[in-house]
Amino acid sequence: MTVLTGPGLLFVVSGPSGAGKDTLVEGLKARHERLLYSVSATTRTPREGERDGVDYFFLDRDEFERRMAAGGFLETRDYNGNLYGTPRSFIDEALRAGYDVVSKPEVNGALAVKRAFPDAVLIFIVPDKFSHLRSRLEARRTETNEQIAARLEIAHDEFTFVRRFDYLVINEEAQPLRAVDDLEAIVRAERYRIH
Ligand code: 5GP
Repeated sequence: MTVLTGPGLLFVVSGPSGAGKDTLVEGLKARHERLLYSVSATTRTPREGERDGVDYFFLDRDEFERRMAAGGFLETRDYNGNLYGTPRSFIDEALRAGYDVVSKPEVNGALAVKRAFPDAVLIFIVPDKFSHLRSRLEARRTETNEQIAARLEIAHDEFTFVRRFDYLVINEEAQPLRAVDDLEAIVRAERYRIH
């Protein structure tokens, strides 16, 4: 990793499952070469097409718990029966080397990252209609009906934390690129902020 000048910025893109975080972060990464993605670890089984080390580090529960006990995660969360965690060393090293980093944990994870890095920029993604969460999760065809229902229930709770975030971005179903533009504008503005 080449060392750039000054420490980088940490962007945390969060919001309920089905809000479109994955697509938006993909779009954002494609526009910013200085922005590195923090790959999370999870005990969830990979979905079709997901790659280890790219989408997630897929770990069994024992390995996840071993790394957790060793302090390897910035934050961890049990989400709908699976463990998820943000590896600590990648973020530390990338920020120190001057790279900006983006991660996309669920809402409690985002707030935990903010406690560890008070300067982290927290962005909450919402769909323009709550019902779009369900239709997106259904269209994905990766969860059972029970799992979708559980994710929607979690989403209800997650909305209560929106005021603890720095930015709110509405992901309009009909205009997906607009939300990527908004994210890009936030990244640019934060880079110009005098800290
Ligand atoms: P999925 O199973 O759909 O990939 O992710 C389920 C939820 O876990 C999503 O809301 C996602 O943002 C969240 N998630 C992914 N990685 C992490 C992480 O490292 N930490 C936390 N707290 N949540 C995560």
